[in-house]
Amino acid sequence: MATPLQRGIHSFIEQIDAPVATFFTSCVHCGLCADACLFYTETQDPRYTPIHKLAPLRRVWQQEYTFWGRLMSRLGLVKPVTDDELAAWEPLVYDSCTLCGRCSMVCPVGNDIAYMVRKMREGMSAAGHAPEGLVMATTRAIQSGSPAGVKWVTVQAQIKHVQADYGFEVPINRENVDYLVLMSSWEILNYPEYLGAVGRILNRAGATWTLAEDAYEATNSGIQIGVSDLARELVGRIVGAAERLKVKCVISPECGHAYTAIRWEGPNLMGRPFGFEVKHILEVLDDLRRAGKLKLKGTLDTPLTYHDPCQLSRRGGVYEQPRTLLNQLAPQFREMSDNGVMNWCCGGGGGVSAIERAEPLRMAVFKRKKAQIEEVGVKTMVTACANCRVVMEEALEHYHMDVEILGLTELVAAHLDEES
Ligand code: SF4
Ligand code: SF4
Repeated sequence: MATPLQRGIHSFIEQIDAPVATFFTSCVHCGLCADACLFYTETQDPRYTPIHKLAPLRRVWQQEYTFWGRLMSRLGLVKPVTDDELAAWEPLVYDSCTLCGRCSMVCPVGNDIAYMVRKMREGMSAAGHAPEGLVMATTRAIQSGSPAGVKWVTVQAQIKHVQADYGFEVPINRENVDYLVLMSSWEILNYPEYLGAVGRILNRAGATWTLAEDAYEATNSGIQIGVSDLARELVGRIVGAAERLKVKCVISPECGHAYTAIRWEGPNLMGRPFGFEVKHILEVLDDLRRAGKLKLKGTLDTPLTYHDPCQLSRRGGVYEQPRTLLNQLAPQFREMSDNGVMNWCCGGGGGVSAIERAEPLRMAVFKRKKAQIEEVGVKTMVTACANCRVVMEEALEHYHMDVEILGLTELVAAHLDEES
């Protein structure tokens, strides 16, 4: 029977596809990716240079896929990757990488380092070197449908509150509707206002929608930990519900990684295109606005800024829609420096927020966002990812900063014209 290390190395070998091989071949060792990575810029620790985080994967590529590497390996002139090395790299591949993709934007030869870190996590998991917090979150997701262990009864309790507060029925398991609404764990546990906001907006727009009892959770910890089989299982539950209910579109909630999982990785994981569309809630809001179905009134006359979730703005291309909405709703909307596709991460994406030991590092790297907020001089920040929101709320508390964070969907709902 193979040891965990052998399983990990085997997985590395499987994960080295043509793009990974090309990226390693073309790296010119310029080091530019370091200055794009929050974990390097805020700590100056050279171990956090993005390409360095991939060193064991690079060694396996050299020894398995290059002529000189194979020759030297056969002659015993290079050392194979060891279990101790993988243990030493675990904090580099998980705790200090949010898969934000900022490094990929600056590489002069176009290496997608975030793509490679995602690949490397597959081998690290197979070798038994995934952080405990992420392993537990993934186990809970498989067992209960949610990485936070949220069960349908919790969602039902939230539904009752929404129905009592807003006076509309939350549809469940309804067929042939326009939208299947998903939520992230954080929205169910920390931000119950999200479901009420989405329901009010869709109802006002005359759209039909539903929740699904067997697919309400969008967070995909299989992708964060780097186990494609688990990621496929979690995406498959959503695809199964969407197809059974024959919905036209699945709405990814305010969660960046959930959007990446279902929108971009989903069809590849399932090995086929979906028979329905997948959109982030901000894309749906913008669609409704363009169709004249999003009726808004009043503005929020407070200076505010927008934090771009990495998976949404940089990796997903959804950066104009929030600005169109904010320019309509908030006359004092101000951009932070380095906004849009070159935003700085909150520091807790890609599963980092689930790793307890990473908390001091998360707080340290938040110094960049802190400086951005102070520079723009606002007390209100809007975002469209519940994970970013939780991570930043904790960090704002840590730094005693008096800044509130709002979800954009909730802000839109607060300005809905329900009378015209
Ligand atoms: S993806 Fe983001 S966090 Fe990860 S190495 Fe690149 S810049 Fe750093
Ligand atoms: S920026 Fe690109 S080429 Fe330069 S060291 Fe990083 S991965 Fe290599």
